[in-house]
Amino acid sequence: MPTQTYDIVTVGGGIAASALAIAMAKRGAKVLVLEKEQRFKDRVRGEGIIPWGAAEARELGILDILRTTCGHDVPFVEGGMGPRDLASTTLQRLPALSFAHQEMQETLLASAETAGAVVQRGVAAERIESGLPAAVVVDGNSRERILTRFVVAADGRNSASRKWGGFTVREQSNDYYMAGVLLSDVRSSPDLVYFVFNPAFGMCIGLVPLGKNRHRAYFMYPKTIGYRLQGEQMLELFVSESAKCYPPLAEYYAGAKCIGPLASFDVSDYWVDHPYREGVALIGDAAATTDPTFGQGLSLALRDARVLRDELSQDPDWVAAGNRYAVQHRRYSSACHTIEGWLRTLFQDPSPIAAALRQKAMPLIAEDPTRVPDNLFSGPDLPVDDDVRARLFGER
Ligand SMILES: Cc1cc2nc3c(=O)[nH]c(=O)nc-3n(C[C@H](O)[C@H](O)[C@H](O)COP(=O)(O)OP(=O)(O)OC[C@H]3O[C@@H](n4cnc5c(N)ncnc54)[C@H](O)[C@@H]3O)c2cc1C
Repeated sequence: MPTQTYDIVTVGGGIAASALAIAMAKRGAKVLVLEKEQRFKDRVRGEGIIPWGAAEARELGILDILRTTCGHDVPFVEGGMGPRDLASTTLQRLPALSFAHQEMQETLLASAETAGAVVQRGVAAERIESGLPAAVVVDGNSRERILTRFVVAADGRNSASRKWGGFTVREQSNDYYMAGVLLSDVRSSPDLVYFVFNPAFGMCIGLVPLGKNRHRAYFMYPKTIGYRLQGEQMLELFVSESAKCYPPLAEYYAGAKCIGPLASFDVSDYWVDHPYREGVALIGDAAATTDPTFGQGLSLALRDARVLRDELSQDPDWVAAGNRYAVQHRRYSSACHTIEGWLRTLFQDPSPIAAALRQKAMPLIAEDPTRVPDNLFSGPDLPVDDDVRARLFGER
């Protein structure tokens, strides 16, 4: 087997890996990105970055790249109570940013090459050998073992790197599916993202404008309902059930056309408590796959890339840097996980116990909406403690 040597090899070329590759190549590191897909196609993934993630993109120097290529600013969010202006009400003072996921991936990989990283497409990693140096074994034209000072494993929600790197994966099963489909000709404003819960049915809808007359429509529903939305033949059910959750959608979707696959996902959480060991750091979904209903995944991926960039740039000891990244990751990803759990209980869970909690909390929230912490839009650095929980649930 021939060998090559890099400072950093990334397994995967999604948003997490390419953002990190751009940032580290710009700082002079010799970076290799391995991406198994020759060409990206619509896989139904996240396409809306909320303001705290947009701020991470700005820190990484990719916000303007996205805005001027495939990105679309979305100034308002509708949660069912009237539009909220994100740029004037979030900590970051930024609108949300949307894009077609595959266009974003192509854009960022091209930017990684421009920044000096080597990008290999159609090359799948087959194994990681942890250690100092570490190695990645790939299945390309010629089987190859690539030596590197640091592996960044960013191979997404079904990450095999977690197993190859010897990480222990933790899981919280969530009782919902999330379905998504790409539509054209939706009768809705291109400036407004919808994110509306209906706890009576345990459902939630999302509608993200992507520009060019395209919208990504999402529908979240309980696993107990008895159907799994997969395939274009289920579009009619997708539309009628979405409109049951949020009735205005019946009008928005009348005349809409399906222009991509319809797929659904289990929204359970998977994470690694300390995503660094022996020369291998996990980032993005490989480190923590959060419930996509709450739209934090892209922002977490960018936070991971930014924190790891900062740690690796500050300290020539990359073992210490990797461990410090992992400690920070645990803090901010568990803050996201905790907030999502509280919001799922209060706004989505149809059980009698959750209904009783709502009966107490909702009148108080109607009087004072600041009882709902703004972490989903303003980020995981806002407090997440007993006091925040008690205010949300109307216990004080
Ligand atoms: C239905 C759905 C809706 C979502 N909605 C939102 C949302 O609105 N907002 C939000 O912020 N997040 C959302 N998310 C989450 C978001 O899509 C993910 O958090 C984000 O894409 C994670 O990026 P990543 O780079 O970690 O992984 P990925 O995007 O999965 O990228 C991983 C890459 O690694 C490659 N790869 C995998 N294995 C190998 C290998 N062995 N060798 C080489 N390459 C490999 C893959 O081809 C892929 O390109 C949603 C997710 C789903 C499923």
